[in-house]
Amino acid sequence: MSRFWSPVVRGLSPYVPGEQPKQEGLVKLNTNENPYPPSPRVLAAIAAATDRLRLYPDPRAAALREAIAARYQVTPEEVFVGNGSDEVLAHTFQALLKHDAPLLFPDITYSFYPVYSRLYGVRYEEVPLDAAMQVRIADFRRPCSAILLANPNAPTGISLPRDAIEALVTAHPDALVVIDEAYVDFGGESAVPLVARHDNLLVVQTLSKSRALAGLRVGFAIGQRPLIEALERVKDSFNSYPLDGLAIAGAVASIADEAWFEETRHRIIASRRSLVDALSGLGFEVLPSAANFVFARHPRRGGAELAAELRARGILVRHFQKPRIEDFLRITVGTDDQCSRLVAVLRDLI
Ligand SMILES: *Cc1c(COP(=O)(O)O)cnc(C)c1O
Repeated sequence: MSRFWSPVVRGLSPYVPGEQPKQEGLVKLNTNENPYPPSPRVLAAIAAATDRLRLYPDPRAAALREAIAARYQVTPEEVFVGNGSDEVLAHTFQALLKHDAPLLFPDITYSFYPVYSRLYGVRYEEVPLDAAMQVRIADFRRPCSAILLANPNAPTGISLPRDAIEALVTAHPDALVVIDEAYVDFGGESAVPLVARHDNLLVVQTLSKSRALAGLRVGFAIGQRPLIEALERVKDSFNSYPLDGLAIAGAVASIADEAWFEETRHRIIASRRSLVDALSGLGFEVLPSAANFVFARHPRRGGAELAAELRARGILVRHFQKPRIEDFLRITVGTDDQCSRLVAVLRDLI
């Protein structure tokens, strides 16, 4: 703290991301990165785009919005792109979620949501997940201006079917419903097909996980035109060029390589199945995951202690010191090799 800090900065409690270790040779299963590289076409497109680094990028990222629009069967005017979906979400908080009535989100969900709420002065209420750690749509029937759900949820990995999202959107015609689909490609049902029918739905996705581009920082939102326009107004009051030229080129190439996307996401889904079986075999309770991670606890071992013992043996997983989930570990689905190393060490520890 310094006397130069503004009152706003004094009051912030920033998000703490998972560890990005300097040490080599660790099995890194703590931040839900893709264990496979991005499409080789991405690398070629980025290399070609270096010719234009002297120039500012397209402030509207038209090429990328067109690519996303074609892939998801919407129009480019219904697509907003940003520097990671974290930035897209941040703009959403400022542009669309700040009202007198509270924003609702689950008590157990992506921990950036309360951080953004405090940063932007958004009133919020947490709606508890049920005893099975599931989102219960009926529990969201209370006065609100908006509802924000990660689907599949993080860190539980549990997903709601599209019908449930449509029921929620229909039950709250005067509230904006934002669905954060960071993990949808690993087994969830996307709400994007509902956008045409519902003016109160915004769907946010990222290229960080299923397209292995966490380092490039590209995310997007799909919604009807007035919602997208609100995001553009905030973006154009903040940074005209949030997406750099290399990111735009790489993201366009990634969206174009459907075969690579399908192959790698199916490999991860298959690895998840074997990982769930192996963990269950060791006595873990594993929540049903539709994501590229599993959330699991062992009846006899605390989460903090297990995470520390794994860390000591070169394996990083994520642990949250938070009521209701302090005994769980969130484990990213790595390659089969990485998963086997994890299971072997756990077998030793338990
Ligand atoms: C990873 C993640 C994001 C952020 O992704 P970026 O696009 O890398 O900023 C957003 N929401 C959830 C639930 C996530 O897990």
